[in-house]
Amino acid sequence: MGSEDFYRCDACGKRNRIPAAVGVRGIRCGGCGHALPTPKILERLSQVKTELQDLSVRLRRFDYPRNHTEIERKLSRQKAILANLPDLPGYRMTSHASFDLIIEIGVLVDDLERRLQRTALKVALRILVEIGQFLRILAVETPRLLTSGSDD
Ligand SMILES: [Zn+2]
Repeated sequence: MGSEDFYRCDACGKRNRIPAAVGVRGIRCGGCGHALPTPKILERLSQVKTELQDLSVRLRRFDYPRNHTEIERKLSRQKAILANLPDLPGYRMTSHASFDLIIEIGVLVDDLERRLQRTALKVALRILVEIGQFLRILAVETPRLLTSGSDD
C-alpha cells in the first residue's frame, strides 16, 4: 500500500512528504535538516498518550478491585511500548521533533501517579513510576540532540 504521511517542519514550515518506506528510521526536513517525527514512532507515542488519557478520565469509576488487573495490563502495555522505542533508529529524532507530546505524556503520568497514590493500586503505581522514569530519561537525552544537531 502506498500510504504516505505529510509533515510540516516546525523549524522552516516546509511540507515534507514522508514515504511509508521510511519505516522506523529517523528523518530530517528536506528544506532545513531539522528532525522530523517518524510516523510509525509518533503513532506509538500518540497511542501511549491516548491510553493514559483514557485511564485518567475513567480512573475514578474504574478503580474497583475487579478492574485492577485490567488497569495494570493497560499500564504494562504502555510501559512496554515506551521501553521498546529506544531500539528504533528514528526514536531520538522523533522525540526531538515531537517533544511537546513527550511533555504531555509526562504531565498525564505525574497526574495519574498522584491519584494512584490514594488508591489500592500499588502494582499499577509501580508500573507508572517506571513509565515516568523512561520519560525522564527521554527528556534528559532530547535537549542534547538540540545542541549537537544544530550548527550555531
Ligand atoms: Zn525544515
